[in-house]
Amino acid sequence: MKETKEKLAINGGPKTINKEFDSYNSLGEEERLAVDEVMRSGILSQFLGVWHKDFYGGPKVQEFEKMAADYFGVKHAITVNSWTSGLTAAVGALDIEPGDEIIVSPWTMTASATAILHWNAIPIFADIEEDTFNLDPASVEANISSKTKAIMAIDIFGHSADMDNLRKIADKYNLKIISDTAQAPGALYKGKLAGTLGDIGGYSLNYHKHIHTGEGGIVVTNDDSLAERVQLIRNHGEVVVEAKGVKKINNIIGSNFRLGEIESAIGIEQLKKLKGYAKSREKMANRLSEGLSSLDGLKTPVVKDNCSHVYYIYPLVLDIDKLGISKFKIADALHAEGVQVATEYQNIHLIPMYQNKTAYGSGGFPWTADFARKDINYAKGICPVAEKLNDETYIGFGMCVYNLSEDDIDLIIKSFHKVWNNIDKLK
Ligand SMILES: *Cc1c(COP(=O)(O)O)cnc(C)c1O
Repeated sequence: MKETKEKLAINGGPKTINKEFDSYNSLGEEERLAVDEVMRSGILSQFLGVWHKDFYGGPKVQEFEKMAADYFGVKHAITVNSWTSGLTAAVGALDIEPGDEIIVSPWTMTASATAILHWNAIPIFADIEEDTFNLDPASVEANISSKTKAIMAIDIFGHSADMDNLRKIADKYNLKIISDTAQAPGALYKGKLAGTLGDIGGYSLNYHKHIHTGEGGIVVTNDDSLAERVQLIRNHGEVVVEAKGVKKINNIIGSNFRLGEIESAIGIEQLKKLKGYAKSREKMANRLSEGLSSLDGLKTPVVKDNCSHVYYIYPLVLDIDKLGISKFKIADALHAEGVQVATEYQNIHLIPMYQNKTAYGSGGFPWTADFARKDINYAKGICPVAEKLNDETYIGFGMCVYNLSEDDIDLIIKSFHKVWNNIDKLK
């Protein structure tokens, strides 16, 4: 890399990147034709919320589910109209009682935790590992109480959580594991696909994920009973159980979480392309990491042994003490060069709903209910690693926002080098 002492764009110098990157678009002619076929069939949905063959939906829904089960190597894949719906159904399927606790990461999309609250269960936030941004097993164990029933392992940014150690804890305390693999479809953990290592897990198909159907999601499990319960919650189960002969009806408050035929037809084509899209994210991220590796005070993404990373987001951690400057100044300088890095991700525990403990109604329910443990703490300080990353050291780049070429990656690398070479001018 040519070392440049050129004046930074933020200080009036020339901008490094003078083009708009192409937007990421995973859709093509195959999806258009598939939609056309569904339109011609005249069937946009074929679900019935009663015990009938159409309880399981129409031909494209069922074809997509069969294909997804084969693809992910699981016994059951159940489509849903969003992964938020999928997470909600998964939590309900696990025999969760009001006041039960599920340990979850604060470094995730808000739906991971609200799916827990949906059942009047209590999200407990454990801290994360600084290198993978995933749940820290030691913090998970420290947060276990007599009420803990499950761990929600988020495979954030495209890298699997530490499933072996989480499984050890789950076995020791008799807990279930839910995998939220919205951001890591296709990522490997010791030869297995992320999302399939929990008791139940799944993927998002919303429009800013690796592959999508506009809105949608897939629940995966090898457990027949969990699969049936998810299907019931997906589709008005309370009115189905009697005719179907289902005896265990707790939490079978059904909803309409059904995916349409058009979305399923698109999903079939998208799934065929997942491997290719994941590989190209990985290739570009590796090129970026190589180009940034010589920069002092900057930690490029870690990929653990026997794992692969599919880079929904490309995360970087700054050594602020070494750099002697705030991440916001560095980000401003990168923005000016044309690199749109984000300066924060999520500290879910700090949003007003948890800070004020106000969810259902205004009286603090479910935290104030008799069934809930009384000393639930969401104060700043409970997740120091996640908080420090958000406040001081993390910056990230969305890899499913743009379709980046090698030349684009090289321009991003050049921008970082320019900023680093001129870091004194930012102080
Ligand atoms: C996108 C996402 C969700 C929610 O998925 P939707 O399909 O948008 O409902 C949940 N968890 C994580 C980590 C996500 O990135």
